Amino acid sequence: MPAKAIIISIGDEILYGQTLDTNSHWISGALDSLGIRVIKKVTIGDTRKEILHYLEQSEKLADMVIITGGLGPTNDDLTKPCLSEYFRTKLVRNQEVLKNIHSMFERAGWEISESNEKQADLPANCTPIVNTIGTAAGMWFDENDTVFVSMPGVPFEMRQMMSDTILPKLKKRFVSDSIYHRMIRTIGIGESKLAEIIADWENQLPDNIKLAYLPTMGSVKLRLTTEGDDETSKMLVQAQIDKVLPLIEKYVYGFDQEEIEDAIGRMLKNKGMTLSVAESCTGGFLSHKITSVPGSSAWFNGAFIPYSNQLKNEQLKVDNKIIQEHGAVSEPVVLALAKNVRDEFKSDIGISISGIAGPGGGTPDKPVGTVWIGYADANKTVARKFQFIRDREINIKYSAIAALNMIRINLDKE
Ligand code: ATP
Repeated sequence: MPAKAIIISIGDEILYGQTLDTNSHWISGALDSLGIRVIKKVTIGDTRKEILHYLEQSEKLADMVIITGGLGPTNDDLTKPCLSEYFRTKLVRNQEVLKNIHSMFERAGWEISESNEKQADLPANCTPIVNTIGTAAGMWFDENDTVFVSMPGVPFEMRQMMSDTILPKLKKRFVSDSIYHRMIRTIGIGESKLAEIIADWENQLPDNIKLAYLPTMGSVKLRLTTEGDDETSKMLVQAQIDKVLPLIEKYVYGFDQEEIEDAIGRMLKNKGMTLSVAESCTGGFLSHKITSVPGSSAWFNGAFIPYSNQLKNEQLKVDNKIIQEHGAVSEPVVLALAKNVRDEFKSDIGISISGIAGPGGGTPDKPVGTVWIGYADANKTVARKFQFIRDREINIKYSAIAALNMIRINLDKE
């Protein structure tokens, strides 16, 4: 049985819609990758009664309670006094945390105040988790077989603390070493279609191999899990992977932790090819994904963001007549953009995106979410139309992923 977790996000600003709770989303994914099951997420305000109530409820249901937010020095931040009250202890000044706060202020050349020093007051029975990039320390409590972890709300502080300290500790405490996971990563196919294709294979899986479908934006991961990380278990899982791959080969871009941008980097590097980008509606997001892969300078030459029609014409030589006749979001425009950005940067591949991200700008024949993607290499120039949805942020993200997938499909044919 996997260990069970409850995530509590604390902060009035989340309830009022001023802050999107990205923390619990990230934490869910991180716990899931360890095989820990998140059974509930709760968002509450900075209210003593609510905090105490949910600490108590969560302790009854879960093996671990992961809390973010409300650790600041101001009076509206109540998480620390509540944890202290819940565990029937007092706040005491922790010298190690105090030293960390002092050295942080010294390094920055800032004057330290009493309220900054107060950040080192922690419940006496917790194990402090030093925050190397902020002043609010994390806390680890191990009470009556339930672990409570409290972390700052600031997303990058929380993530660093989780990755460096808390996830390894949780893994040691709750995850049997003998769990073995493999992940097959697919793209360009929905969860239900994928399930249809592999139904027979899924039905014949032995009882000791569990399959999970993990859909994320534009891709579905298939996770195979077995107990036992000995060679026999690994071979059994590999045998099942070998069996299913021929059925879904054209959708598989990688395995385990590899993201689509990593896979594109790997493929380009192996082939010794370079890439350049002309992206309009994604405003640089595709280039950001490509350059988030270490070593990308080996295969990424650069990008233009010709947002306006004028720049499409002046920078990338798209004929004004074509733009006027077909519109900026059209097949001939992305074909020209892909071909010309490839020539301009002297790359092996050019990729282009032009679309209507929304919420405005749609027409009956080109509604919001219409996106054209072009691809050019030495042998061909092709384009494809996508119809995404009405949400600007999602359209931008889907477009970048679809463009990466278009590179993958064409590179596979090389
Ligand atoms: P600090 O003392 O470093 O400010 P804190 O624990 O007091 O830490 P909060 O005051 O609750 O943190 O929040 C700090 C920042 O983090 C705010 O900008 C807040 O909007 C953001 N934040 C808080 N909780 C979340 C969350 N669940 N998801 C995303 N952002 C969050």
